[in-house]
Amino acid sequence: MTASIINGNEIAQQIREELRREIVNLKETYGLVPGLATILVGEDPASQIYVRQKEKDSQTLGIYSERYDLPASTSETELLALVDRLNQNPKIHGILVQIPLPQHITESTVLYAINPDKDVDGFHPVNLGKLMIGEPCYLPCTPHGIQQLLVRSGIETEGAEVVVVGRSNIVGKPVANILLQKKKGANATVTVCHTATRDIAFHTKRADILIVAAGRPKAITADMVKEGVVVIDVGINRIGKTTSGKDILVGDVDFAAVKEKARAITPVPGGVGPMTRAMLMLNTIQAAKMAAGLT
Ligand code: NAP
Repeated sequence: MTASIINGNEIAQQIREELRREIVNLKETYGLVPGLATILVGEDPASQIYVRQKEKDSQTLGIYSERYDLPASTSETELLALVDRLNQNPKIHGILVQIPLPQHITESTVLYAINPDKDVDGFHPVNLGKLMIGEPCYLPCTPHGIQQLLVRSGIETEGAEVVVVGRSNIVGKPVANILLQKKKGANATVTVCHTATRDIAFHTKRADILIVAAGRPKAITADMVKEGVVVIDVGINRIGKTTSGKDILVGDVDFAAVKEKARAITPVPGGVGPMTRAMLMLNTIQAAKMAAGLT
């Protein structure tokens, strides 16, 4: 079996088009313009690219955006003061602090200072807690994007054996929680693997849907999956540069070999990445609607 490729660029584009129409409607009907503030501290090249992309997405969709590029020497107090100002700013409905932050700043202190109603990244404990108990909340963007990839590709999750490799707070744990909920597009039997898992292949071979967020190239090889599996590769690993100086990106899955056994698989790049960005836009619109009392 050769897998069909789940095209994250195409699905994200469909979602962006839906969101663009919704934004036009919000402006025309209610005079409401969703607003997103992005904060970047320091000069991490990958973070600079991510923030630039998010700002471009906002502008393309008609979302008002404010971008704050702060020097790496910014103190935690200064950063918290900016978050506080943005918490109070009625034009800003969503606040995104790009992580990682420089070492002298405690990430959790800053992320938890964001008003949960403006936490469009879905990293605040209030939103993660609501996710766990199945209440409406901002879903973290990458896990939500993964769920949307499955739903919009017509992949049934109900009753499926889902195996997640990785248990980070931003991908592994929330995606496991989302797919565990007794809801449409979820309701799966979920197993989570990590570095202390005794026999990872034992679990991955049982998976109907395998989600890999380990940050290790070729963590999953063809002998670790069953025929007909659906594979969502979240990993983004930079393994070198092209002759023109561009990063060479690979996922966590041995794509060439695994696609010969899988029913469907996401590529890297062009799989989960674009969905993460689309879900941030979706959360920002949700935040604006909530602030205006429209939800
Ligand atoms: P992370 O915080 O480093 O967590 C990695 C997780 O994988 C940990 O739970 C770790 O286990 C587990 N792990 C590592 N190697 C493993 C192995 N060989 N077998 C089993 N488990 C293993 O990473 P993350 O933030 O979740 O990100 C994971 C990957 O996704 C990275 O490549 C990242 O760049 C990418 N990512 C992509 C997007 C996107 O939009 N496409 C968004 C976020 C992240 P322990 O807990 O035991 O250490």
